[in-house]
Amino acid sequence: MTLAGKTAVVTGSNSGIGLGIVRELARAGADVLLNSFTDRDEDHALAAEIAQEFGVEARYVAADMSKADQCRALVEQAGACDILVNNAGIQHVAPIDEFPQEKWDAIIAINLSSAFHTTAAALPMMRKAGWGRVVNIASAHGLTASPYKSAYIAAKHGIVGLSKTTALECAGQGITCNAICPGYVLTPLVEAQIPDQMKAHNMDRDTVVKEVMLQRQPSKEFATTEQIGGTTVFLCSPAADQITGTTISVDGGWTAL
Ligand code: NAD
Repeated sequence: MTLAGKTAVVTGSNSGIGLGIVRELARAGADVLLNSFTDRDEDHALAAEIAQEFGVEARYVAADMSKADQCRALVEQAGACDILVNNAGIQHVAPIDEFPQEKWDAIIAINLSSAFHTTAAALPMMRKAGWGRVVNIASAHGLTASPYKSAYIAAKHGIVGLSKTTALECAGQGITCNAICPGYVLTPLVEAQIPDQMKAHNMDRDTVVKEVMLQRQPSKEFATTEQIGGTTVFLCSPAADQITGTTISVDGGWTAL
């Protein structure tokens, strides 16, 4: 399975799931464009490491996914965009009546509207090439809800709807669009929460992971960034040519409950 000759743009990819997706796409031979809102030497060094490790072209482009014009400029700067992965996302937890308005606006902009803008910029390129893949990173929270995460859950349900509409508008054009719905994924951000949770619940690592953090994940195992990357690569493979407008859960059984 080779993605040689394809160019992938992955938003929010200097850490966590986005970086895992970049690594698996590069392992499959795709040239990759990494992104976040920062413009540090280490961001560009990360792209150079990927290029070196996998023998592909890799570039880092800073763009703030809360800004419509920067979303569109990111795709245009890529020059080519055969694979678009909308992954950038943030979270805030508070009851609806106390939820700060600016947090609501930021989450909707970064987790949902950015995907509209990047997709709008990418589709003409994909149509010209006669092939394209849009992969939106939603969440188990794109299919189910939890209290205190109103903006995140609204955005993730929204991106599932956007994925379906994109799929219908592109049907029969060699372009597919799907949403991956991860459960809890072990990213550096999640790993960093474990010591605090251990202290708060007075539990050892294994117990806090299984009983607190993975309470809703029946497998009692985190998904990994490699698995989300592998699912993305699968969606870019010929086996997935007729998979469009749907969701793929990578959640250890969360949404089967
Ligand atoms: P993370 O914080 O490691 O990654 C988020 C990425 O988005 C980072 O690269 C960050 O720099 C970038 N980002 C944030 N604001 C941005 C902005 N304004 N412009 C550009 N980039 C921006 O977190 P993660 O866990 O890897 O999350 C990645 C995606 O996966 C998110 O959409 C998240 O909702 C989703 N997700 C995560 C989990 C999980 O358990 N970790 C589960 C389900 C879904």
